[in-house]
Amino acid sequence: MLKPEIKNYVTPKHIRDYPTGPSFEAGHLVSINAGWRTFKPVVDINVCTGCYQCYLLCPDGAISKTDNKKIEFDYSFCKGCGVCAHECSFNAISMVKEELTK
Ligand code: SF4
Ligand code: SF4
Repeated sequence: MLKPEIKNYVTPKHIRDYPTGPSFEAGHLVSINAGWRTFKPVVDINVCTGCYQCYLLCPDGAISKTDNKKIEFDYSFCKGCGVCAHECSFNAISMVKEELTK
């Protein structure tokens, strides 16, 4: 899977150019995380089974597969929504306060 790319915002010119629902295709952040994230996900790779549920569900495509069949986060694009931690059936992901991990 390709990582998100920074894409310049283009003002829609026609109604059909707007997304049709409350969600939009992942990986279309206009810019990288600007430092407003309060919590960030941290994975325990000893618990992670490599099921890739989080990879499939991250709304921003900020999770990548690694060579050892685990996952890693791209913190430049992760917005800290916690979907990955919520959906991990193995509780391998914890949401950790930013200031505690710096
Ligand atoms: S959902 Fe959990 S167990 Fe599955 S790949 Fe993600 S972190 Fe690993
Ligand atoms: S916290 Fe949200 S944006 Fe960040 S990796 Fe998890 S699902 Fe993706």
